[in-house]
Amino acid sequence: MELEILGSGTSHGIPVVSCECPVCASNDPKDTRTRASALFRDDNGLTVIVDAGPEFRVQALRAKVRRLDALLLTHAHADHIHGLDDVRIFTHFAPLSVYGNGECLEDLRTRFDYIFKRTQEGGGKPHLNLVPVASGDVIRVGNRAFTAIGLTHGELPVLGWRCGDTAYLTDCDAIPPDAEKLLSGVKNLVIDALRPRQHSTHFNFSGALEAIDTLRPQRAWFTHICHDMSNEGIISWLQENSPGKKIEPAWDGLRIEVGIEPS
Ligand SMILES: [Zn+2]
Ligand SMILES: [Zn+2]
Ligand SMILES: [Zn+2]
Repeated sequence: MELEILGSGTSHGIPVVSCECPVCASNDPKDTRTRASALFRDDNGLTVIVDAGPEFRVQALRAKVRRLDALLLTHAHADHIHGLDDVRIFTHFAPLSVYGNGECLEDLRTRFDYIFKRTQEGGGKPHLNLVPVASGDVIRVGNRAFTAIGLTHGELPVLGWRCGDTAYLTDCDAIPPDAEKLLSGVKNLVIDALRPRQHSTHFNFSGALEAIDTLRPQRAWFTHICHDMSNEGIISWLQENSPGKKIEPAWDGLRIEVGIEPS
């Protein structure tokens, strides 16, 4: 199984519309970051996506997504769900199961009220089966298990997701003790790291390093990155601030091999 980073950017994406800073003007393809999302795909094609942001369609085309077995949500901020309508193509024959915490699914029903209203035949809209989950819940998709990990993102409770030895924790600023237990033994960790400066609801680079020190994965990747620093700049920052550790900035299209314990 693989985890593919579909988008590694913060809520504006990079380049930021109208910004002329060196990172937004960069020619390095790794400095183009679409909104945060990730895809788990196994050798049989089973496909599970985490979040459906504004670039879901572009990301799904680029990653050659042929099927969608489940959508896992982290929270209902616009940069994580505003591509939801485009999952419609995968819901023609059966409703798509969408997993999120109570707050997230409640927001979804308000924000996308047309999806849940009875309307005339032929008006194309996605068919969704909303399934509430709480931290520690394990959901099964086909023969794969995914664990919901409760985190905080400022005052908002959000979910990270773990599959096998790999965890994807976007949009967070703390790993509560319960989450730490659920993340025990994780080998690959993708974690929110917005920028070097502090932020009120996201880990900054130092905060992400502290979380990595606590969770002790073999490898880690920063994600949900903003335009304060280029990909090359982050690599240099990491060489200086966490020498000898396998920590890198994620980038759109990065693929990580996921290990699954035999069940
Ligand atoms: Zn976000
Ligand atoms: Zn910029
Ligand atoms: Zn957010």
